[in-house]
Amino acid sequence: MQRLLSGIKPSGDLNIGGYGGALRQYVKLQHEYESYFFVPDLHAITVYQDPVELHQRTRDIAALYIASGINPDKATIFLQSQVPAHVELGWLLETQAHFGELKRMTQFKEKSDGKDTVSSALFTYPVLMAADVLLYQATHVPVGDDQKQHLELTRDVAERFNNRYGRTFTVPEPIIQDIGSRVMGLDDPSKKMSKSNPNKNSCVHMMDTPEDIRKKFSRAVTDSDGQVRHDWEQKPAVSNLIEIYSVFSEEAISVIEKRYEGQGYGTFKKELAEVVIEKLQPIQERFHQIVNSSELDRILMDGAKRASETAGPTLLAAKKAMGLVTF
Ligand code: ATP
Ligand code: MG
Repeated sequence: MQRLLSGIKPSGDLNIGGYGGALRQYVKLQHEYESYFFVPDLHAITVYQDPVELHQRTRDIAALYIASGINPDKATIFLQSQVPAHVELGWLLETQAHFGELKRMTQFKEKSDGKDTVSSALFTYPVLMAADVLLYQATHVPVGDDQKQHLELTRDVAERFNNRYGRTFTVPEPIIQDIGSRVMGLDDPSKKMSKSNPNKNSCVHMMDTPEDIRKKFSRAVTDSDGQVRHDWEQKPAVSNLIEIYSVFSEEAISVIEKRYEGQGYGTFKKELAEVVIEKLQPIQERFHQIVNSSELDRILMDGAKRASETAGPTLLAAKKAMGLVTF
């Protein structure tokens, strides 16, 4: 069976962008791949996180994995910081990644833009991500559009290492879906819906109440031509809403366009809110049952053990290949 690894950072409250681009896919993919879903807490701290909030959000993301339908008996669910091999391999791979290629990463440029200081970890973040993936010999990594470039770097680093030291790592392929791979902000369709966006009306969170969700969709920007039509070039804001509808109702875009033909945006936005509320309601319920339970602790401890068993041999092979002394 082919192997897959992916994760969502505990850097903020999860929104429906991360759900559409990542979580929803995880739930499907666990049946097709031997899957590892982790919470990249070490990536989250590349920008300052309040310790109390980070602690809770890490549990929140893990609980959301399970509440959304990832089965911990089938997939391995774990926290990155519980498997030290990530940081160890991360360092080994930093010796292989080039300063120049890291400087070209658009996410670094975006996240450091306008800041007086940024951590060096934010700069080397993509190398730790390469270690995350390569440790498990993952054949596939499901990513949103924004992570394509980082996965490309992972592939380059793996190939460079293999060429220099002998075949050690599997070179992974991305899995990118068409619909939902790039959910944009409700306030501005030129910016992706992001956990770290401070404007709370830009995104719908997984834990938002029905009233909040209705309010946010009713305020979402559209355009002035009044047609529910999918056209990213001419109508980005409306296209984004149609894609969200499609992600949550699991209906084709053409079906949705037909349903709202000639109706304007009012009804469409109202019903979009209801579609999202209906899908989120059982996820929210399960989330509350599990988030502070000892069941979650057990799942995460067991997951870290299983993950370490898979990661250990790769780390050892990489050390040996580089000439480090191992016993
Ligand atoms: P941050 O702003 O801190 O980077 P984020 O919202 O981008 O947070 P990540 O943890 O970086 O979330 O991403 C987790 C996964 O969700 C990645 O695979 C990413 O591609 C996907 N993802 C995140 N935001 C979106 C979005 N708006 N649309 C589609 N996929 C997304
Ligand atoms: Mg991100």
